[in-house]
Amino acid sequence: MKRVMIGGMRHESNMFNPVYTDLNAFKLRRILYGREIVNERRNTNTETGGFIDILDKSGIEMVPSICGQAMPAGSVAENAFVEFLSVMLDTLDCNTVDGILLSLHGAMVGTEHDDGEGYILQRIRDKVGVEIPISVTLDFHATLTPLMIETADFLTVYRTYPHMDMADRGREAASVLIRIMNGDIKPVMAFSKQPMLIGPPHNVLPHDYPMKHVMDRAREIERDVPGIIAACPAQGFMQQDVPHAGTGVVVTADNDLKIAQKYADELGDMMFSYRKKYIVDLPNPEETIKLAMNSGNPPVAIADSGDNIGGGTPGDGTALLHEILKQGVDSAFVPLWDPDAAQEAAKVGVGAQITLEVGGKSDSLYGPPVKITGIVRTITDGVFLNREGKGYWAGVKDNMGLSVRIDVGKITVVLNSISTSPNNLMHANAIGVYPEDYRMSVCKGGLAFREAYKPPAANSYIQSDTPGYSSSNLNNFTYKKIKRPMFPLDEI
Ligand SMILES: [Zn+2]
Repeated sequence: MKRVMIGGMRHESNMFNPVYTDLNAFKLRRILYGREIVNERRNTNTETGGFIDILDKSGIEMVPSICGQAMPAGSVAENAFVEFLSVMLDTLDCNTVDGILLSLHGAMVGTEHDDGEGYILQRIRDKVGVEIPISVTLDFHATLTPLMIETADFLTVYRTYPHMDMADRGREAASVLIRIMNGDIKPVMAFSKQPMLIGPPHNVLPHDYPMKHVMDRAREIERDVPGIIAACPAQGFMQQDVPHAGTGVVVTADNDLKIAQKYADELGDMMFSYRKKYIVDLPNPEETIKLAMNSGNPPVAIADSGDNIGGGTPGDGTALLHEILKQGVDSAFVPLWDPDAAQEAAKVGVGAQITLEVGGKSDSLYGPPVKITGIVRTITDGVFLNREGKGYWAGVKDNMGLSVRIDVGKITVVLNSISTSPNNLMHANAIGVYPEDYRMSVCKGGLAFREAYKPPAANSYIQSDTPGYSSSNLNNFTYKKIKRPMFPLDEI
C-alpha cells in the first residue's frame, strides 16, 4: 500500500505590521498534530479536507504530520518554523512515504526567511531527495518564487477570491500526486513574474473583468492544450517587501518545459496588460459613511480596507465607527478587536450599561479609541463553527476569544479578543448579530468578506480608503527589497 505524508503551515505575512506572528499565534487558531488532522479536517472545505477525500477514495495510507495557520499579521517568528518543520521532518524520519501533500500559502515571510514556503519546501526536499514527489496547494495571494518552483513537483493555486475552492485545490493536488506516483505523468513547471503589486481593495476579483479574462484563458489552456496539467495565475501580496514580490503565473505541463513556459508567459503578459484597470479610487471614511447613509440599496457592507484582518492587520481601527457616531447613523454593526475592552465589558455583565473606550489601541494609525456608552447584551467565549454548507472554512471550528456585544442605541459594537476576519457570517451570527438587520455593517476585510456578506446580509458594497497596514495606497509604505520599477509605485 502506498503512503503519503500530509501537512500544512499557512500564513499571509504583512511585513508592515510590526507584530510578529509567533508559534503562540498559530496555537491560538489551533495546531493539529498527527491523526487530529484527519479527524478534524475530513469533510471540511479546506485543502487538507480535499487531500483526505482523494486519499480515502484511492486506498492510500495517510501519514499525517502537522497542520496549522495563524491569522495574518506580521512576519512569522522562527519558533513557528522550528515547530512545524521539526514535526514534518520527524514524521519523514519515522515513516517511509511515496509522496508528500502540503497545504501552504505562498505569501508567508519569516523574520529569517524572505520566502517562507520556499524554505519549508527546501528543507523537506533536502530530507527526501528528488525521488519523492511533493504536491502543494497555494493561496491566490501567493508570491511565486524560483525556489518554490525548483523544490516542488506540482503547485496549484486557488482559482477563486473570495477563496472558496480550498477543498477542490486539495483534491487537485492529491490527484496529480497520485498520477506522478503511478508513473502516469512527469510534471514540469514554468513560471513568469510581473513587476506589479495588486490586491484588495483593487479591482482584482477573478470572476470580474479584467482579471476574469486571465482566469478564463487559463481554464481554456488547461482544457484545450494537450499536456497542460494546470495553469495558475497568482496575485501576490502587496504588503510584502521581498525580492520576488509581485504577481506571477505557474504553468505545469507533462514533460514539456517549453510549452509550460509559453503559456506562463502568455498569461503573465495578459495579466500585466490590464494593470491600469485594477486601480480604483476609494472614498475616505467621511465620504464612505455619507454614501452608505444615502444608499438606495441597503444593507451596505463597508470594506474597512486599511484594516483588513485577513490581510494581516489588527482589526481595531476606529475610523469608520468614529464617522458612524459623528454622522448620527441610525443602524450599524461594527466589530472590533479589543481584548481589554471585552474584559472590561464582560465584568459588568449582561444587561448593564457601560461607558468605555473601544478600539484604536494597537497603533496610532488605527486610533484614537472611541468612547461609547451602551448596554452589554451578550458575552460569549467566542468559539463557533463555520456552518454554511460550502462557505469559507465550512465545517471548521473557529475562535474569536472572549467576545462581548454592546448595543449603543441601534449601533451594535462587538468586541473580540482574537482578531477574526468576517469571511463567514458566523463571526456575527455566533454572537446573535444578523447583518441583514442593520443599514450598514463594517467589514474588517478587503474583498473576501463578500462571500459571507451577500444578500440578504448585504445588497451593496463600498470599499473605503481607511488607514492601516493593508491600505491599497502603497505610497504609505517604505519598500526596500522589491525590484524596481514596480507598478503602481512606478509608472510602467
Ligand atoms: Zn488570499
